Amino acid sequence: MSLDSISHRALSVIPGGVNSGQRRVPGLEQLVITATRGATFTDSRGDTYTDYHAAFGPPLLGHNDPDVDAAVAEAAAHIDLMGVGVTQAEVELAEDLAALIPSVEKVLLTSTGSEATFHALRVSRAATGRRLVVKFQGCYHGWHDSVSMNVISAPERVGRVDPISTGILPEVLDATLVLPFNDSGAVRRAFAEHGADIAAVIVEPVQHNVGCVLPVDGFLQVLRDETTRAGAVLIFDEVITGFRHALGGWQSICGVTPDLTTVGKAIANGYPIAAIGGRADLMDTFSSAPGRPVFFAGTYNGHPAMVAAARACLRKLRNEPVHEHVFALGEQIRSGLEEVFSEAGVPASVAGYGSVFVAYFMDGPAPQTYTDLLRNDAAMFLGYRRALMRHRIFELPLNLKRSHVSYAHTAAHVDELLMASRAALREAI
Ligand code: PLP
Repeated sequence: MSLDSISHRALSVIPGGVNSGQRRVPGLEQLVITATRGATFTDSRGDTYTDYHAAFGPPLLGHNDPDVDAAVAEAAAHIDLMGVGVTQAEVELAEDLAALIPSVEKVLLTSTGSEATFHALRVSRAATGRRLVVKFQGCYHGWHDSVSMNVISAPERVGRVDPISTGILPEVLDATLVLPFNDSGAVRRAFAEHGADIAAVIVEPVQHNVGCVLPVDGFLQVLRDETTRAGAVLIFDEVITGFRHALGGWQSICGVTPDLTTVGKAIANGYPIAAIGGRADLMDTFSSAPGRPVFFAGTYNGHPAMVAAARACLRKLRNEPVHEHVFALGEQIRSGLEEVFSEAGVPASVAGYGSVFVAYFMDGPAPQTYTDLLRNDAAMFLGYRRALMRHRIFELPLNLKRSHVSYAHTAAHVDELLMASRAALREAI
């Protein structure tokens, strides 16, 4: 049976043919991945692409990093799950995270970022005895009910609660206040009106689920001040920014320390492990609290092979010039793309930070608000990325998605990307 027929077989046994909603990309219904390696992946047609999608962000070291893979194989050879007690490696990983991330005094491990944000909100509601959660238009925090709203909203749905799924209880939607990112006035007004009912504010400190929207000066500090004053919990969701932008996360860059932090993705270069960490008194409510502790469980939490992956990944991030390398390439890509777009006379705003880049098809400076993002020409955004694919460059052809560079990318990849971009712009416009 030919590999291409796998996408047809998938449709008969897997709803929609994929195992995560955003893997269903218009135009790529036939895409069957057969291999990944370093900065590339290969499909069932035998075509190899330079990969900037990077599975939405985990493989900061590149696909199949040999050191991380070796650590996983070594761990798997002598220990698997026991479901009782703790291992030395779990303790050492927790100690590492506490040493690296400013807000983290105690840590619990999960398998995914969604579980981490779920528990961050549950513990916030338990600790404060309040019900409301503040999230921001354009931020994504996972698939669970409390945060399943207002990521990429159609213009007419901005400014109200816009669920990304059916099946969510209206009571859960009612318990969420959605505010505009980078709007300190809106945050102050929400606290003035509802402060006594707000359990938590959850935020991606850099909005990467709509490309790259950086926090304006003072915005994260306003979140810190308002939550502190109201007795609410401030949660930085660093599932993307953690380890990718700095070993200590965005909080170590911006100097604002939240109460709780969630991390995932780049922590283990693609192996499924994530974590929630934060203030010891809050984290301790998971194990002891007046009345009843906050329930926390998971069969695969702290899986020895995943813990080994995370430890090997963090070791490499500390011991090798990974950040220097990816930051330099990211900068070359952003400035190179600016030149390419301006030569082609195509209005574009090239945004990003460190290893992350995105070219929005719009006039003017990098966007600061969701309203700014609505000016992006989605048809051009997708047309350009589809044209890049013809040159064997892969940036996910979905509107507003960011791209990533890894330790496995080289200056030659950057040249290839810029050359392909020139050609793609000629073809797409
Ligand atoms: N938080 C952020 C900022 C994310 O980008 C994601 C996933 O993309 C999540 C949480 C959820 O993580 P996971 O997909 O591992 O459940």
